[in-house]
Amino acid sequence: GRHPHSDADLRARAARAVPGGMYGHLNAALFPPDFPQFFVRGEGARTVDADGREYIDLMSSWGPILLGHRHPRVEEAVAAQLARGDTLNGPGPVFVELAELLIELVPSADWAMFSKNGTDATSQALVVARAATGRAKVLMAHGAYHGANSWFTPATVGLTPADRADFVEFAYNDLASAERAAASAEGDVAAIIVTPFRHDAFEDQELADPAFARGLRALADRIGAALVIDDVRAGWRLDLGGSWEPLGVRPDLTAWSKALGNGHPIAAVTGTDALRDAAASLYSTGSFWFSAAPMAAAVATLETLRDTGGIAAMARAGELLRAGLAEQAAAHGLAVTQSGPPQIPFLTFADDTSFEKAYHWTTAALAAGVYVHPWHNWFLNTAHTEDEIRTALERTDDAFASTRRRFGAD
Ligand code: PMP
Repeated sequence: GRHPHSDADLRARAARAVPGGMYGHLNAALFPPDFPQFFVRGEGARTVDADGREYIDLMSSWGPILLGHRHPRVEEAVAAQLARGDTLNGPGPVFVELAELLIELVPSADWAMFSKNGTDATSQALVVARAATGRAKVLMAHGAYHGANSWFTPATVGLTPADRADFVEFAYNDLASAERAAASAEGDVAAIIVTPFRHDAFEDQELADPAFARGLRALADRIGAALVIDDVRAGWRLDLGGSWEPLGVRPDLTAWSKALGNGHPIAAVTGTDALRDAAASLYSTGSFWFSAAPMAAAVATLETLRDTGGIAAMARAGELLRAGLAEQAAAHGLAVTQSGPPQIPFLTFADDTSFEKAYHWTTAALAAGVYVHPWHNWFLNTAHTEDEIRTALERTDDAFASTRRRFGAD
């Protein structure tokens, strides 16, 4: 017989079978109490939790879902590959096909290498830079998230000071602070790693000042360090060629993951010819890094995105959502800030440093059937049609009304 699998039942069983019941960024203990922990289904713009409640999913699984859940073209490509085998003694032809496609789409890419998660890609990019330069230090923005390994995890338990010793921080969008960080590292800088915009949790998002982006490029060139763009979160939502293409700033290395396979596990590093030999010199591997099905997913995802103008569609949907939320908040007398690119939206309330209003509003939105996050940016996908956004907005209006009743007007 089947075990009961309500969210509460699953949590109780997980509390015994898994340390802490859950871990990492999906741990529901980090969210308002009504947020579900377990999900059973996703289709297009919708997801269904273990209690059978359906949501319009504005988190897109924290980024990986780019074309909607279970996109037919992607799932067909995966099924076709799975029917032939997935993890074999060597990669399939799709390994070469995907590398060639990335080189074609991404102007800064002369080569590509594959792995599984964003952390694999950011770590590998930094090791390539160190191999190329023979230097140790890495400049990174204070508060930026680049992964969950010992270099980057926000929880320092179990680490040693040596794990972080080679990282020197600067302030995002503050070129002078990056120049100072470089000077303090005295000719030992292998890389500058930076996200294409500032998307730190618990903060309003901040787009990159074009002068900052250009300045980092010039700084990297001047000191002989690699400029690494961490496009794990923003990649494939802002520009097909990389998120700083619109600014005319090309990196030496880019880390990709999340959206690349529309939910299938794949990450990539792309880089320039100058770093090809260094990249070839690494011992880079993993049991599942050469599996073919996620690569087939990635080829289908990128081709679909390119052929359907998906990025522009996400931008339009995001603008519609933003305008609707702004209108509703104003109508209910609530002051909000919406930040970041429309494809990667975020909303905070004024005077809400403890996120009480955000918790209330997201909980009310959840009850009405819209899954949004109180302190982390959201992600649109191409299944967010105008109809889905309008339906989401019909539901969020009540959430603003409820927030106004609870906290009063601003
Ligand atoms: N870099 C950025 C900017 C990210 O947002 C993330 C994931 N949230 C990572 C790296 C790490 O990716 P992963 O969790 O797949 O290892």
